[in-house]
Amino acid sequence: MHTHTSHSVDGKCSPDELCRAAFERGVGAINISDHCDVNRDGELDCFGDSSASVRDALRLKREYAGRMKVLAGIEVGNAHWNPTLAKRCMALEGVDCVTGSVHRLRYEGELYVTTKADFAHMPPKLISELVRYYFEEIQLMLDITRPDILAHPTYLLRYIVGWHHVSVDIADYSDCVDRILRRVISDGIALEVNTQSVRDRLAGYDIYLLERYYGLGGRLITLGSDAHSADRIANGFEIAASELRRIGFSSACYIENRAIKSYKL
Ligand SMILES: [Zn+2]
Ligand SMILES: [Zn+2]
Repeated sequence: MHTHTSHSVDGKCSPDELCRAAFERGVGAINISDHCDVNRDGELDCFGDSSASVRDALRLKREYAGRMKVLAGIEVGNAHWNPTLAKRCMALEGVDCVTGSVHRLRYEGELYVTTKADFAHMPPKLISELVRYYFEEIQLMLDITRPDILAHPTYLLRYIVGWHHVSVDIADYSDCVDRILRRVISDGIALEVNTQSVRDRLAGYDIYLLERYYGLGGRLITLGSDAHSADRIANGFEIAASELRRIGFSSACYIENRAIKSYKL
């Protein structure tokens, strides 16, 4: 439910190549969800690219009809930084699924781009403030817009913990995490299990979050490989599905025409 093509600034292959690879791998459905981020100046980075992406996805949906489900999605990043522009993007004609995410932080006058920030050399107090602030930003994004899917809710930890090996105990932020989980549950927003960086298991913070979500009654899960190239399609899905079944989930879902459709895990 989460892939990127050359219509995203970091996508590596065309929508046609991505769909061909997904079909050859026997994937039942693919959601093309190219980036549309609100940037630091409050402008949309890629409205034109997003329109082209949706157009291509709709064309491929017709081409693959009866063989594989192609969904026209969009990943709107930091929508709360400019709700008017973001909503324009979310309202593009034919969009099946809106994925909402937070990719960047503006904290105390500084812009933090997760892929560039040097978390390894930051004071622990700042790291802690940024993690809390990140969860608050997600809350704000959900307050202002209503995506169908909340993407990679542990995105910041992927960089702080995964890339820079700075330890963070997500349980220290259980108040913020629970607030987000309660919000997605009450609003019927699906929670994504993002498997982009999964090799042999899900990260501990993802498992923590999923167990809490399940405990609070959340059942709407999407699997998203966040593939930026054809070889990453459905990466880590089997690992994630087995972890989800262990927690107690029996189904996952996809979004079509802005409506939730479930399937058995
Ligand atoms: Zn993202
Ligand atoms: Zn993405």
